[in-house]
Amino acid sequence: MDPTSKRQKLVALLALASSPLIFSSLAWPWGRRAHEVVNELASKNLPEPLRTYFQSRQAYFVEHSTDPDLLAKDDPSERPHHYINGDANERYPFPRLEEHFFREHRAPTALEKRNGDVIWQIETYVLRLTKDFKDKRWDDADHDAVYVAHYAADLTQPLHTVSNYDGQLTHQAGIHARFETELVNALNGRLKLAPQPAAAILNLRARIFGEYLASYRRSKDVLGADRSAVAGRTYLDPGFFPAFSKAAQPLAEERLSAAISFVSSLWYTAWVGAGQPRLLGAARSPSMRREEK
Ligand SMILES: [Zn+2]
Repeated sequence: MDPTSKRQKLVALLALASSPLIFSSLAWPWGRRAHEVVNELASKNLPEPLRTYFQSRQAYFVEHSTDPDLLAKDDPSERPHHYINGDANERYPFPRLEEHFFREHRAPTALEKRNGDVIWQIETYVLRLTKDFKDKRWDDADHDAVYVAHYAADLTQPLHTVSNYDGQLTHQAGIHARFETELVNALNGRLKLAPQPAAAILNLRARIFGEYLASYRRSKDVLGADRSAVAGRTYLDPGFFPAFSKAAQPLAEERLSAAISFVSSLWYTAWVGAGQPRLLGAARSPSMRREEK
């Protein structure tokens, strides 16, 4: 896109004017409410004894669900950890990336890092969480569980898997926030979420790559829902948002359900990988520990 194009500027202004929410930057993948919902419901989507353990700390996981975004706000080097634009290098289903990431098990190249390394970041934090559980470092486990959840949820947001992340290449500026923040906020309490139960993951990189492809495949649907809703009108038209909401609600529900299942499965996988240690910290929530200090 030519950022100086008058028409695109107008589209962007119209998109901003139609909404009180102006964040559409990559530093804010999924809106705050979406991350809170994912962490809350992922805590309930676990088998025992993890379910009791995570539910006793649910307030912490919800409160801190967007900590990685706060970090990204101040630290530009954090931002690429929240997305992946594999389509900047090659076409779906990204055979070269699959070769590097899954078959050769390699660290990201400089180019891959620049295009977003969320798939590596998820693995890094699952391994850290595994070690935290093994060493019974409960504070570190709380911190790392939040980061696992955040990056994993970001990957399930289709617009975090495409170069056209804000519709800037297709005259749909603002779609990022319209989908992940405005829509989720508007549907709050009415979202029908049906996550698959948490299950231990045997091949972590294969699962992460599979989640990436599933999310990418939905990006065209999200952009399409927006394009259809604005057809014959502008983003300022009162008919736009209801039309967009109707088309995009099932997509948001499907993606958030995927996020809940993915996050809870990653938490469960870390605990299983640690040898299913007794969760001695379960009785004391993070806030209780703070009060004791
Ligand atoms: Zn993020």
